[in-house]
Amino acid sequence: MSKVVFNNKNAVFFQSLKGAIDSYFKEKNLKKTGNWALYSKTIILIAASIALYLIAISFSLPVVTTILIGSVLGFLSACIGFNVMHDANHGSYSSKSWVNDTLGLTLNALGGNSFIWRHKHNIIHHTYPNVDGIDDDIAKSPFIRMCSSQPWVPMHRIQHLYTPLLYAISSMVWILFQDFEKYFKQKVHNTELQKMKTKDHVIFWISKVLYVFFYIALPILLTGWQQWLVFFLSLHVGLGFTLAIVFQLAHVVEETEFTFAPLSETTVIENEWAIHQLKTTSNFSPDNKLVSWFAGGLNYQVEHHLFPRISHIHYPAISKIVKLKCEEFNVPYNCISSFNLAVRSHFRFIKLLGRKPVSA
Ligand SMILES: [Zn+2]
Repeated sequence: MSKVVFNNKNAVFFQSLKGAIDSYFKEKNLKKTGNWALYSKTIILIAASIALYLIAISFSLPVVTTILIGSVLGFLSACIGFNVMHDANHGSYSSKSWVNDTLGLTLNALGGNSFIWRHKHNIIHHTYPNVDGIDDDIAKSPFIRMCSSQPWVPMHRIQHLYTPLLYAISSMVWILFQDFEKYFKQKVHNTELQKMKTKDHVIFWISKVLYVFFYIALPILLTGWQQWLVFFLSLHVGLGFTLAIVFQLAHVVEETEFTFAPLSETTVIENEWAIHQLKTTSNFSPDNKLVSWFAGGLNYQVEHHLFPRISHIHYPAISKIVKLKCEEFNVPYNCISSFNLAVRSHFRFIKLLGRKPVSA
């Protein structure tokens, strides 16, 4: 297991920033959790998804319509993940823990597992983003080389061409394979998974059985296997591609940094925790309200990594304070102005990492 320690001795930046953010919420008399803007999004996204699902399994549809419904449902499912599940599993959706726990299970309804994800995301990814050896989100080797410390193989020469295909199948691999791998190994990449209680095991298996019933057995029974196959594949292309691209634009672009943490060694990061978050994270398209609405504030990834327990609904407002504080302390505030530029930056970076390193 890799070990990473931060140099938190002079954590003055985060202390100062946290003070300014707390004052903002106090002055405005706002709760840090969600509000009606978030609740209305939840209702719209879930209602639209259920409606599309019911149409897809209730009628005999032309192939093009099935592809359209499946991929839009996949996209909306990813948006439920960003807007509802992500806030809920961080405990920032509501001040009531039962609301967060219940809405966190929207991940199980989409095929994943809330318990495993909380450990993988809240603890591992949020503490050690872009730390090769720990952060499971960048552990796609040998298929994708996402940082220079990962070994190079010849197929990486064309990884910028095939990564979109891997993104498109990523949610299928996650739901049907990686969750089970993590469950049976009780490990997330190189890190032991938190101990699962009986309740967590029961929820894991019931959710996976329900997933097979609602997403595979019932549609096949009602519409036949051909329509189901088109629907299921389209749904996952929409879901997997949307999830992957939003993650990649936030962490794997030319502006972000990576650290290597070798197994069985202690790696010291010469920064306070918050500065590490700033160096490894990037915002994209912050002024595009449509992107912000659908991406659940994950285009404000800098604010999210600094304040994961504040609901994403507040990120556009607090981003102004964060940006000013970064300028004051002369620390990076990575932000790519548009979605298009961020996509280009990601693929340029992936193409660069696909080149044979001098030492390989
Ligand atoms: Zn998060």
